[in-house]
Amino acid sequence: MTIFELSKEGRKSFFLPKEESYGYEPSELLPEESVRKNEPLLPQLSELQLIRHYTGLSKKNHSVDSGFYPLGSCTMKYNPRVNEKIANLDGFSQIHPYQSEDTVQGALEVMYNLQNSLCEITGMDSFTLQPAAGAHGELVGMLLMKKYFELKGEDNRRKVIVPDSAHGTNPASAVMAGFEVIEVPSGRNGRVDLKSLEEILDESIAGIMLTNPNTLGLFENEICEIQELAHSKGSLLYYDGANLNAIMGHARPGDMGFDIVHLNLHKTFSTPHGMGGPGSGPVGVKSFLADLLPVPVVRFNGRRFSLDYDLPNSIGKVRSFYGNFGVFLKAYAYILTLGGDGLKRASEMAVLNANYLRARLTKLIPTAYAGICMHEFVLKGSKLVSDYGVKTLDVAKRLLDYGIHPPTIYFPLIVEEALMIEPTETESKESLDIFADTFEKILNEAKKDPEILRAAPKFTAVGRLDEATASRKPKTKWSKDS
Ligand SMILES: *Cc1c(COP(=O)(O)O)cnc(C)c1O
Repeated sequence: MTIFELSKEGRKSFFLPKEESYGYEPSELLPEESVRKNEPLLPQLSELQLIRHYTGLSKKNHSVDSGFYPLGSCTMKYNPRVNEKIANLDGFSQIHPYQSEDTVQGALEVMYNLQNSLCEITGMDSFTLQPAAGAHGELVGMLLMKKYFELKGEDNRRKVIVPDSAHGTNPASAVMAGFEVIEVPSGRNGRVDLKSLEEILDESIAGIMLTNPNTLGLFENEICEIQELAHSKGSLLYYDGANLNAIMGHARPGDMGFDIVHLNLHKTFSTPHGMGGPGSGPVGVKSFLADLLPVPVVRFNGRRFSLDYDLPNSIGKVRSFYGNFGVFLKAYAYILTLGGDGLKRASEMAVLNANYLRARLTKLIPTAYAGICMHEFVLKGSKLVSDYGVKTLDVAKRLLDYGIHPPTIYFPLIVEEALMIEPTETESKESLDIFADTFEKILNEAKKDPEILRAAPKFTAVGRLDEATASRKPKTKWSKDS
């Protein structure tokens, strides 16, 4: 029930002074045309009803705090609360972006140090913290690429190569920046097919967008050959680092030969995400692209931090002010807390957890591509259809009944009935075992009575929704007459 439907005329959970006691008429403070003529249509509830309503709503959400959330390519890991506390310190949360530089030296220092930490983690030379999300970072990266070739007078480079396993935002960002997208197929081992790549690489290609490990959870082990090939043709290499969880502290995109990188602080570096919350997609570049970064750039002269707007070749501003500062704080606190060794250990555990789960689950359904995975893996669910007559979607819905968030399904697009599983480093062996046991239980149900799966979920607030209509024609507003 909506809060409006719970409303009863006259109920309330507030006590304001009587209007007579104000000592003035509202119209004395506001111009006549701004004074409300009718009462606002607000729900009327007691305080207890209000608390129960919102607590009830919060329980309808699945979250990392309430259960396992192995959503592949999303890194739904636990984010330490201490980082939220730090981001909420008054000295950080009560400052304003229009304050003079002298009064926000600490904030600028955090941004400067975070940029340097990200440079070290990725092997890049400069970073901008402005982009507000991963896709936004990709767009910035593509605009940098475009500007670079414009300045070089190579206007003929109008195409960007994207593998068929890529995240959908990659081709979208390239197109938004004005490039044409050329798809390169994956080889039989789930990696970029070097031969196909060689065939399409010519002087019309501005760059290649790669994710490594790719969205199948596989490391592109021919990355050195790929970068040599790309650079020999004068193209740039773009790294989608949304999921850095697999390689932090072990391998660096900069060392692999990437020229531009974006990271998702809201996946890897301690900001919870989903539902459109604030994100951050910093972009790092090699030194030859540093002058093209968005303004302002945070600088330090050994004494004082400042914001530099004087970059003649900059692609300009890409976001209001400096980016999502609260997210920077959480990322910086997380990096300092873990340190280099801790980050390394985190990615080791993420990979170990994924492989443990992979080993258990492949006894039930095969992976799309065999072999050791990185932080995630993709199961090929077509066996569910042939053996049990159920679809990946049915298994996903049944998982909800057991209090587990389903993995990412039907992505990457190149795997039939895909289930993409990313357990993350913050889960215990016990929760991985519960997941594997539950999965087994569900497949047994599928064997005995597949209808249970097709009718799932049974125990959630809502059953199966018409997802197409829900996303195309969302009804997000309550009205008295509806
Ligand atoms: C999440 C993700 C993105 C997009 O990030 P957003 O912050 O959602 O825009 C891009 N690439 C990959 C591989 C991702 O997992």
